[in-house]
Amino acid sequence: MFRARKFRPAPPRGRVKHTRSPYNPAVIVARRFEFQAAHHLPRHPGKCRNLHGHTYRLDVLCRGPIDPESGMVVDFADVKQIVQAEVLGPLDHTLLNDIIEYPTAEHIAVWIWDRLVATSLPLDEVRLWETTTCYVAYRGDVSGAPRA
Ligand SMILES: [Zn+2]
Repeated sequence: MFRARKFRPAPPRGRVKHTRSPYNPAVIVARRFEFQAAHHLPRHPGKCRNLHGHTYRLDVLCRGPIDPESGMVVDFADVKQIVQAEVLGPLDHTLLNDIIEYPTAEHIAVWIWDRLVATSLPLDEVRLWETTTCYVAYRGDVSGAPRA
């Protein structure tokens, strides 16, 4: 015979203190930036071959354990200061072709990764938005094949 389960009220919310996870959680901390730059892609079959500009959005994702002393993975202010010095300073309002060889979004993302991975940031991923709907992501992976 079917019997409905006994109704159990949900545990009270809001007043229950969060208990600490027995594991050390790895948390992603991200900050978004914006810069403007021009580029042209002579091998592109479409209009991207012509000189044009973008407002690039850059998401820098860091990942790591929460430091027991600070309670943080990384300080947002440190992310800002490092990205400003390593990426935004060199790239903002430039012609990217002068700095990065064949500056597709992919090559720009790898260039940014290479700059940031050499810093103290616990870098996890770089996302470069070329438009509001298109981005590339890079996490330092390599295909295994040497560069052409
Ligand atoms: Zn473009």
